[in-house]
Amino acid sequence: MSDLEMIPAAKPIIGEQERAAVDAVLRSGMVAQGPQVAAFEEEFARELVDGRTCVAVNSGTSGLHLGLLAAGIGAGDEVIVPSFTFAATANSVALTGARPVFADITEDTFNLDPESVRSVVTDATAAIMPVHLYGHPADMAGLAEVADEAGVMVFEDAAQAHGARIDGAPVGSFGTFGMFSLYPTKNMTSGEGGMVACADEEIARGVRLLRNQGMETQYANEVVGLNNRMTDLHAAIGRVQLGKLSDWTARRRENAAWLDAHLEGVVVPPVRPGCEHVYHQYTVRLPGASREERDAVVAALREEHKVGCGVYYPIPNHELVSLARFAPADPEALPVTARAAAEVFSLPVHPSLTAEHLERIATAVNTVVGAGS
Ligand SMILES: *Cc1c(COP(=O)(O)O)cnc(C)c1O
Repeated sequence: MSDLEMIPAAKPIIGEQERAAVDAVLRSGMVAQGPQVAAFEEEFARELVDGRTCVAVNSGTSGLHLGLLAAGIGAGDEVIVPSFTFAATANSVALTGARPVFADITEDTFNLDPESVRSVVTDATAAIMPVHLYGHPADMAGLAEVADEAGVMVFEDAAQAHGARIDGAPVGSFGTFGMFSLYPTKNMTSGEGGMVACADEEIARGVRLLRNQGMETQYANEVVGLNNRMTDLHAAIGRVQLGKLSDWTARRRENAAWLDAHLEGVVVPPVRPGCEHVYHQYTVRLPGASREERDAVVAALREEHKVGCGVYYPIPNHELVSLARFAPADPEALPVTARAAAEVFSLPVHPSLTAEHLERIATAVNTVVGAGS
C-alpha cells in the first residue's frame, strides 16, 4: 500500500484571497501594526466572542503571557492549569513568575475536572486557567463555582476552540480574558498570531500597553512591556480566514459525525449536552491500552495506511524537563491525565478531507484496531 497518498494530519488552507490581501498590504508600504490589525480585532470580536474587546498579538503564547500579566499575575501567585495540554499553557504562567499548579482532567472531554481543581486550591491561588482542549469547551459552570468559592479569577486558553460554545455562549467570553491561537494548524490562521478577548477595558488596555513596550502615547512608556505586536500582513491573512471559519467548522463537524458513525474499537469523542465542539482535533481513545500498544496503532496507521495521525499529548506537562519542578509531590496525583497520555491519538478531521479520505481513515482504523484486539 506504499503508493498511497498520505492523508495529512492537518492542512492549512491558504488561497488566492489571502495572497491578494497580503499583496495589498505590501503595496501600501505600511506593513507593521496598523489599520488591518484594528479591523481584524473588531471583526474577530463581532464574529467570535459576542463583541468582547479583542487585542491582537504575535502568537497565542504571547496572548496568554500578556493576558496573565495584565490581570496582575506574578511571583507568589498560583494558577491552576491542566497538565494534559500543549506546554504553552503552563509556560505562560511560569514566565510571569507565578507557579503553574496542575490539576487532573475528566475522562470524557480531557478538560479540567472541577473537583480536582478544588482539591489543589491554596491561599496563593490567584486564578484557574482551563484549556478548551481539541475544540471541546471546558466545564465553565463547574469551574466558575470553584473560582467563586475560592475568590479567584478564571482565564481561558481557547487556542484550539474558535467558535466553540456552551449553551450558545462562545468560549473566550467567560474568563477575565480568553486567548485564541492563529498558528497555521489551528482552525484558522494569520501565519502566526494570537487574539486576546478581554472581559473589560482595563484588561484590554493592559494587554495593548504590554504588547507595545508599555506605550499608549509614543515615548510615554507607562509600564515595562514587550514588542508582541501583530503585523498588518498577518492581520490581512487573518481577516480572510475569519470569513471562511464558519464553513470550515461546519466541515469539521460533518467529518467528525461521519467518523463517529464509522469507527470501531475506539472511543470516539463525546460531546457534552449544550456544548458545540469545533474539532480542532478528532481525538479517540484506546481504552486500557498501554503507551506501546497505542504507539503501535499510530505507527501502523501512518506507515501501512498513510493516515497522518498524531498523539496530542504524549507527555503530560508536569513530566516535561522544563516544567517538572512544578509537578505535584505525589507522582500518582493525576491518574486520568496519565491514562489519557497513554491511550489517545488524533485522526485527520480538517476541512480538506474528501469522502474517499474518510473511507480510508475508517477502514484503516477498523483494520488496525480490529487486528490488534
Ligand atoms: C497552540 C496552542 C497554544 C499556543 O499558541 P501559539 O500561537 O502556537 O503560540 C497555547 N495553548 C494551546 C492549548 C495550544 O494548542
